[in-house]
Amino acid sequence: MSLYNSFRATITCPHCQDVAEREVQFRYGHVWQHEYVLGSTIIWGPAAVGDPGLPRVVVDGWMVECDACGGDGRIALFLRDNVIWGLGPVAWAPGLPSNGWLADGGGSG
Ligand SMILES: [Zn+2]
Repeated sequence: MSLYNSFRATITCPHCQDVAEREVQFRYGHVWQHEYVLGSTIIWGPAAVGDPGLPRVVVDGWMVECDACGGDGRIALFLRDNVIWGLGPVAWAPGLPSNGWLADGGGSG
């Protein structure tokens, strides 16, 4: 069984533009089906994925099936100081590995 964490937010479906509360599954921090929303701080624990010392991280997530069109797919979660503050298309994070994470240089402030 593959474990993951869940992030919930109001998200516009990238396939059909339907707006609804959706679940995004991801593997970062302590991976044990933790539930997160915008503003949540990542929980750390044994065998955690990632690095709590990084100021900016992008995490690859998977938006679960849309109720309106059945579409799903990758979506990026943006973290600052271990807090989930936003999300967006994975195209905003070039090089982001599928089901992985990336330290973000964040030069644009
Ligand atoms: Zn949809």
